[in-house]
Amino acid sequence: MEEITNKDHVLVLPFPMQGHINPMVQFSKRLASRGVKVTILIIESICKNMPKASGSINIESIPHDDSPPENIDKSFEWFHVLVSKTLTKIIEKLSYSEYPVKVLVYDSISTWAIDIAHQLGLKGAAFFTQSCSISAIYYHMDPEISKIPLDGSLVSLPSLPLLEKEELPSFICEIDLYPAIKELVFSQNINFKKADWLFFNTFDVLEKEVVDWMRTKYPIKTIGPTIPSMYLDKRLKEDEEYGLSLFKPNDEVCMKWLDSRETAASVVYVSFGSLATLGEIQMEELASGLMTSNCYFLWVVRATEENKLPKEFMSKLSEKGLVVKWCPQLDVLAHRAVGCFFTHCGWNSTLEALSLGVPMVAMPHWSDQPTNAKFISDVWQTGIRVKAGENGVVTRDEIAHSIREVMEEKKGIMLKENATKWKILAKEAVDEGGSSDKNIEEFVSSIM
Ligand code: UDP
Repeated sequence: MEEITNKDHVLVLPFPMQGHINPMVQFSKRLASRGVKVTILIIESICKNMPKASGSINIESIPHDDSPPENIDKSFEWFHVLVSKTLTKIIEKLSYSEYPVKVLVYDSISTWAIDIAHQLGLKGAAFFTQSCSISAIYYHMDPEISKIPLDGSLVSLPSLPLLEKEELPSFICEIDLYPAIKELVFSQNINFKKADWLFFNTFDVLEKEVVDWMRTKYPIKTIGPTIPSMYLDKRLKEDEEYGLSLFKPNDEVCMKWLDSRETAASVVYVSFGSLATLGEIQMEELASGLMTSNCYFLWVVRATEENKLPKEFMSKLSEKGLVVKWCPQLDVLAHRAVGCFFTHCGWNSTLEALSLGVPMVAMPHWSDQPTNAKFISDVWQTGIRVKAGENGVVTRDEIAHSIREVMEEKKGIMLKENATKWKILAKEAVDEGGSSDKNIEEFVSSIM
């Protein structure tokens, strides 16, 4: 445990989803390693299943009587109401301690948190859990201020590559499907005007043009990639895992199975993160594509998705594949046996693959994922994208062919070389004196 040398206390408020908790926990650990007292606020129902403290950070639970809604649209409002009711009390309680709360670091999608922070006399820092490019797109295309028409097939925005409509975050074009989320993603732009600090989970060279452009407008700070230190700079000795998992990983089964693969880079790791759901037809195409790809595969099928697996698939698996409900993803990506990540391109998964030098097959689902997939294939060139048919389904042949391209063909060698380059750059960013390291240091000095 680091010694607490700073009496000022930073509260961290992630939105309670895995992809939002992980990066904010990691940021907290980096602050704590510099002697800052950090407390993470997590809703009680999740907290119960978690350790009381993760390494050097404290966890405070947010009590609630009713269960969080399953509907994602409704869960945002539920969280807003809950935190509005309870945050004042929590802060008052913590403020009587030796370490008065000075800063609230909140998830950029909880835009309302900045007003609460300011009303309570705290400074507020918005933490963006998606890429800087995504924020720039939401900034330029905000319907409140945007003059950029969406009538052509290509969209040209400052400091970003030309984007096809389908490469934009899904909420921009799918107007009717998620009206509440659409409003929410654009509401993040309020942070640029109101927040005292703007943190981005990315690193300068990864998104150089867009980071430079953003900096001409706002004093943004890149602080990523937020991967446990032992996978990157190894300066935080106890920081070997994220620590706050909403799912129970099958660690032993996965690692044993990977250990038993004799050939390096012979396994495709397949995962669609914590939220994405595939249709039954897509599930069947994927299952068949994996079986015919000629490669071993480790596939994460969450418990809620299992009923969509084709009948008899599990009995046909034999040695070729392992299906688990959840896995220790970082350990899997870092394993010598893994040669490719078949991914939905969630931002954490994307950063993890880049930081661990693993080439990808990108099969984006929604939200920021289509844009991340564009960057993976065309900008960073560490992966290829599958093409969906007119019905939106990616066929078994396309899946098997894409995997073989990354695992077996000449293109795969080029992708691996690029992935290795990004791995080095990711480490440099968080290592001593790196761009993200300096930005975190500057923040800590400013609150001392
Ligand atoms: N993850 C994991 N085990 C799994 C699947 C995912 O630990 O079996 C982690 C992964 O390492 C990442 C997070 O869950 O940190 C998923 O976040 P991401 O942004 O990639 O996707 P989301 O779940 O938000 O769609």
